Amino acid sequence: MVRNKKKVVILGGGFAGVECARKLESEFGDDSEIELVMVSEDNFLLFTPMLPQVASGMIETRHIVMPIRTICKKTKFYEGRIKNIDPYGKLVTLWGTGDKRSISIHYDFLIVALGSETNFFGMADVEKNAYTMKTLNDAVMLRNRVIDMFEQAENETDPILRKSLLNFVVVGGGFAGIETAGELMDLILDARKHYHTIHKKDLKVIVLEALPMILPGFDQKLAEFAKEKMTERGIDIRLKTAVTSFDGNEVTTKSLDENPKNSMDNPETNAIRTKTLVWTAGVTPVNTIRRSMFKTEKGKLITNDYLEVQDFPGVFAVGDCAFFLDPKTQRPFPPTAQIAEAQARTAAKNLKALIKNLQKEKFVYHSRGQMAIIGKRSGIATFLGMNISGFWAWLIWRNVYLSKIPTFDKKLRVFLDWTIDLFFDRDISRLKLVKHETEKEYKLLDEVDDVW
Ligand SMILES: Cc1cc2nc3c(=O)[nH]c(=O)nc-3n(C[C@H](O)[C@H](O)[C@H](O)COP(=O)(O)OP(=O)(O)OC[C@H]3O[C@@H](n4cnc5c(N)ncnc54)[C@H](O)[C@@H]3O)c2cc1C
Repeated sequence: MVRNKKKVVILGGGFAGVECARKLESEFGDDSEIELVMVSEDNFLLFTPMLPQVASGMIETRHIVMPIRTICKKTKFYEGRIKNIDPYGKLVTLWGTGDKRSISIHYDFLIVALGSETNFFGMADVEKNAYTMKTLNDAVMLRNRVIDMFEQAENETDPILRKSLLNFVVVGGGFAGIETAGELMDLILDARKHYHTIHKKDLKVIVLEALPMILPGFDQKLAEFAKEKMTERGIDIRLKTAVTSFDGNEVTTKSLDENPKNSMDNPETNAIRTKTLVWTAGVTPVNTIRRSMFKTEKGKLITNDYLEVQDFPGVFAVGDCAFFLDPKTQRPFPPTAQIAEAQARTAAKNLKALIKNLQKEKFVYHSRGQMAIIGKRSGIATFLGMNISGFWAWLIWRNVYLSKIPTFDKKLRVFLDWTIDLFFDRDISRLKLVKHETEKEYKLLDEVDDVW
């Protein structure tokens, strides 16, 4: 087969993959010599910063996802799960399933933007029994779980069981954990109005964090403000506390406090009875990368200053799956959407430089500030060099993130959801959904199929 077009294949339709595709479309979208291709498991971009608001029922589920086909119109899209990347043969192979053929896609240039998955640090019981907050399915599952717990608790006569139904534990004090805990509190306080036997004092949201502070990476005063505000709202934040197991009924923890006296003072930190534990305590690169032939560090693809993968010119890694040291701290950049998009822009420029024989540029990150919401119309933000907390930070968060949603119709839908939420209580109908098992559902059909 004669190939005359150069094929650029982007793996992953998250923040990094989509940003890269959009930049490349503006450069090569009408170039008949270049073909742009994207492969991703879901056919949409998930706007993760608003995921906790889906879990709390404030935003309707589909309003935070944008179909890839509507935002990357000049990129050929394959919905599928990547099985293997062969950087020597320049082939990407997709898993086959009962409904999908296992195909291989050839590339001339490759952008790997496969993100990360939840890291349970080898605790199999936690993985089996915990809820997570990474996918749209996770958010929907959590909302239904919370409502189910209310339904059970309302008529439960055993006080110990009732307490465990109304204890909600969130593990992890980063972006995902803190925003989830804040939203969870909003949801349960709202839902409570419909359950006559459940009172505010019966409800508990507990955040467990192994580090001595929540929201690492934020200005310390802002993180302190967030902690105080959340504590005032009744969220119990336990620092220097590591989870050791969770069997679905009880979470056991270990104090990391160096002062043994402090760890003895509060025996409750050793075991908490709960039926719902949300695990947000860490991410790890996806299996596909760990299984690949690329060189990795902590499971991430090692890149050079230009975001090219070591030993493979023309292959770039961006976002959560890339290992790139921050020259200022000599530590890897934190996994954030902002950094993923910044890397995607640099990788797109460098790919253009490779194609057009131009000078590549090094990746340099200039933070535009960061922000988080902590529930009840409050937040923290470092914005335009200023530290802001409370209502104004919350308002800035809303404006900034609304402006970042790529399509007008989804912006409008989210805005309407927020407005409706000002006037009405959350919907407490529970939808019966089953927990989605990934990977195991994928069965291989043909080892060797078509090469496209
Ligand atoms: C609840 C939550 C809240 C967050 N809040 C913020 C925030 O407020 N601000 C912020 O900056 N960051 C936030 N983040 C972090 C941010 O979402 C990530 O850093 C960002 O998504 C990373 O972008 P990425 O493109 O590298 O990966 P992702 O966005 O995770 O994209 C990876 C893509 O690859 C696809 N993929 C993975 N494996 C395969 C495979 N084998 N085959 C096919 N496709 C595959 C996935 O389906 C996905 O589409 C939050 C994260 C969570 C979970």
